[in-house]
Amino acid sequence: MMDRLYAPWRAAYFMNEPEPGCLFCRMLASQDDRAHYILARGERWFVVINRYPYTSGHVMVVCNRHVERVSDFAEAEGAEMTRLVARCERAIAQVYSPDGINIGANLGRSAGAGVVGHFHMHVVPRWQGDTNFMSSVGETRVVSEDLNDTYEKLRRALAE
Ligand SMILES: [Zn+2]
Repeated sequence: MMDRLYAPWRAAYFMNEPEPGCLFCRMLASQDDRAHYILARGERWFVVINRYPYTSGHVMVVCNRHVERVSDFAEAEGAEMTRLVARCERAIAQVYSPDGINIGANLGRSAGAGVVGHFHMHVVPRWQGDTNFMSSVGETRVVSEDLNDTYEKLRRALAE
């Protein structure tokens, strides 16, 4: 449970990953944003819903380049990431009114990364007691909202 407390975004993308190559690079190349739950595309990053969310509204801000670390960023990439994370923060606050928000990244599988080697920042709405509730139901994550509803709500809020 401590893992969840400090790294709630340890979603197991790789458990469900039969296709070769990088999931985020495939998403980026795709023409169908809705099919992949891509919420917004910037010049250097895109925003996508986590298909295995820790809580409803869990999104990721993903670098367009296949780079692993913050130290790989160009100046302009760092600046745009901050702007997009801020947009996500505002949209999540507006749509979900959470008690708090986790923002963070896992570099490497040992750190909990589900997609290894392609940098992505998680933005996760949190509610008082959500961890406590989850420990009481063991490994079951609490996800109440349909992903399509999440998509519609957050896309609208991000566009504002
Ligand atoms: Zn990639």
